[in-house]
Amino acid sequence: MLTNPIPNSEERIPDLCLPTGRFAPTPSGRLHLGNILCAMLAYLSVRRKGGRFLLRIEDVDVPRCPRHLARQAMDDLAWLGFTWDEAPLFQSDRSDIYRAALDRLTAEGHIYPCFCTRAQLMSLAAPNLGDTQVVYQRTCANLTAEEAAERAKTRAPAMRLRVPDEDVSFTDGLFGMQRENLARDCGDFILRRSDGLYGYQLAVVVDDALTGVTEVVRGRDILSATPRQLYLQRLLGYPQPEYVHIPLLTDSQGRRLAKRDKDLDLTALAKRFAPEEIIGRLACSAGLLPEVRPMGLEALIPIFDWAKVKRDDLRLPDMAGEA
Ligand code: GLU
Repeated sequence: MLTNPIPNSEERIPDLCLPTGRFAPTPSGRLHLGNILCAMLAYLSVRRKGGRFLLRIEDVDVPRCPRHLARQAMDDLAWLGFTWDEAPLFQSDRSDIYRAALDRLTAEGHIYPCFCTRAQLMSLAAPNLGDTQVVYQRTCANLTAEEAAERAKTRAPAMRLRVPDEDVSFTDGLFGMQRENLARDCGDFILRRSDGLYGYQLAVVVDDALTGVTEVVRGRDILSATPRQLYLQRLLGYPQPEYVHIPLLTDSQGRRLAKRDKDLDLTALAKRFAPEEIIGRLACSAGLLPEVRPMGLEALIPIFDWAKVKRDDLRLPDMAGEA
């Protein structure tokens, strides 16, 4: 088996010209059809170009992501026919690397400690983007070093990145031009939590860059995180990958799938369907096949084309009800 290409905290961006994609599940439960759709499109996109496909286990939040679920995710992906090109990378092993990136940002004056409690944040937050995201009101942004040191005696701070009042835009492969004002729409965001765990945005940006990822394919629910990640990339001097956010998968009635739909996770599905039946159904939902038929992943590579992939919510054929 190949060894991890990033053995220590030394920052090194791989000098590779090969297109490189990745699938980066957070193993807090068994893989779900929505995850598998995402893995499938990421895989087909980069394999179609003859590129590398990497698997990254996003288990920074160690208590929520026990190792056995990561192993289960890898077994499930292998069962479905996925292959990946390096040993899978576990974010829980990479704190030193994230610390080095955070130290650089701190030395350059982009970071400040935040002592706000969750309750304070909720009461001060200005609602934004529905209920899903709140903009931090910069309560701790201007503490003096003495004030911060005094507060640190009783409470470990989170570390926030100060963002400028600036628009960040990018062109999404499916959804086209996207634009967000960092200060207004996102706000200063957390790179390390008060419990010492590194935040998703930092870990993703560092890992994508240091593993040479050139294309990021992931769910549309993460689209709003991308401008923050682009800004971090710029500060850290990393190259910018291409982004394709994929439509959400709904059940055959058009309802959004949720982790609680246990009959659509692999525990249930693997008992009733062969891998080719699952992949064939997902490929049909995505627009890659005109009708449902069993299809292995490898057989889909030559017919893959982003132009075929639908932009509306992707509706699954009925699976939950089938025996
Ligand atoms: N770990 C994230 C998830 O499972 C995906 C992050 C990403 O692809 O950038 O939703």
